[in-house]
Amino acid sequence: MLKIFDTLSQKNKPLKKTKTFLRLFVCGPTVYDYAHIGHARTYVAFDMVVKYLRNRGYKVNYLQNITDIDDKLIERSREENVEMTGLARKFERAYFEDMAALNITSVDNYERASDYITQIIEQIKLLIERGFAYETTTGVYFRVSKFKEYGKLSGQNLKNLRRAVGIEEDTTKLDSVDFALWKKKKENNEPAWQSPWGDGRPGWHIEDTAITSTVFGGPQYEIHGGARDLIFPHHEAEIAQMESAYGIYPMVDHWMHTGFLRIGGEKMAKSLKNFITIRDILRVYSPETLRVFFTTKLYRSPIDYIENSLKEAEMVERRLAEFWHNIKKHEIGVINQESKKIRRDNKIYKNYIKKFWAELEDDFNTPKAFSELFNMIRAANSELARETLSKNDTKLINSFIREMNGIFGVVNEQKLRGEQIPKNIQKLAERRKKLRTEKKFEEADEVREEIEQMGYEIKDAPEGMQIKKK
Ligand code: AMP
Repeated sequence: MLKIFDTLSQKNKPLKKTKTFLRLFVCGPTVYDYAHIGHARTYVAFDMVVKYLRNRGYKVNYLQNITDIDDKLIERSREENVEMTGLARKFERAYFEDMAALNITSVDNYERASDYITQIIEQIKLLIERGFAYETTTGVYFRVSKFKEYGKLSGQNLKNLRRAVGIEEDTTKLDSVDFALWKKKKENNEPAWQSPWGDGRPGWHIEDTAITSTVFGGPQYEIHGGARDLIFPHHEAEIAQMESAYGIYPMVDHWMHTGFLRIGGEKMAKSLKNFITIRDILRVYSPETLRVFFTTKLYRSPIDYIENSLKEAEMVERRLAEFWHNIKKHEIGVINQESKKIRRDNKIYKNYIKKFWAELEDDFNTPKAFSELFNMIRAANSELARETLSKNDTKLINSFIREMNGIFGVVNEQKLRGEQIPKNIQKLAERRKKLRTEKKFEEADEVREEIEQMGYEIKDAPEGMQIKKK
């Protein structure tokens, strides 16, 4: 049974058996710059989660918002002397391109905050009616002290929060911890929308609860995700708004939070200007390398980015690709011509595969699952070298790798096909191998030369013969 770690209860919680339709909301980007590899870390993790859930037979509606109204967007548009919406659309397009390049294909809907102003206003009205919000000369604010459970997600109490906030600059607020639902327009050139409280713009937190309650058809859904930085104040505020506006709780069954991608010990962030964009990294490394890099770590753990880690991930990707290629080649071989040594099916492969899936059931433990996969590869490689891998085992491994790759996207199958060794080269290589087993080394060397002249090279590795394009 699939268990998912829930930030609210701090426990591994089983997914409710009765639910086969899951609604998942993950906070999308604030589109004022290019997405960086910290974003990639979080969105690859949720792409993996959704693809895994779908593979397990769940129907998943995966929703992301696009924050296209925000103080940082206003600031950047002023710096660049452009209109906020134009700037947001430019980086939204870039974001979609980057997600496609990373093979993130699981999201069903992207919804812009600016398309939900009506719903945002309705939700604020509801909060005022129910006594959870008040208007001042600067905006409309959520009255935090009215929501007794405020702090439950981040494990904080109001006293400590007030101390952390310090002196409040906005003297119209009743309490320093109260947060904005609607910000009244201060200057003429600020982007603004009409509302019962005058022209202005929504606060950040209300954008998400208005979008989710509309798209998901109510104030409750199954999974909410994002990276750890969003636990407080963003997700804490979302709970306060949703549960107060509708009086129904819990807002979600599972809160999932990814660990940060760090650089030099700090979170990679647009605001810290210590980031490497997705498009820059993809000029050097393949999307599969990046996916290997993320997938071989637990989604909840922090990852430290250093140059060598991607080089290592690249080697792992190659190893996986080469292995799959050899398995496919072997499958053709054993189907067409039964080799003399092939013997019985070996149940260790079924076992490795079973353990691989079992690790994923335990809060998507990809590091442990992949270590089972590498154990399997080691065992199969040695059988490939000895030519003892049976037809059934080869088929089993091939279909497992295909299924695994459909979720994790760690091997580019098209590239693999493209790199397949032509039939005539394969035949020559087989002839050379035969000559070597017959100890006719001179003739074998002549065949090797012939192969090399045709642009391929042969390596006799411990795990068997390898052929590569020069
Ligand atoms: P932002 O565009 O900053 O609002 O971030 C969009 C999403 O990416 C949010 O879920 C963030 O928490 C997540 N995110 C931003 N930076 C990082 C990072 N360095 N590591 C992991 N996730 C991140």
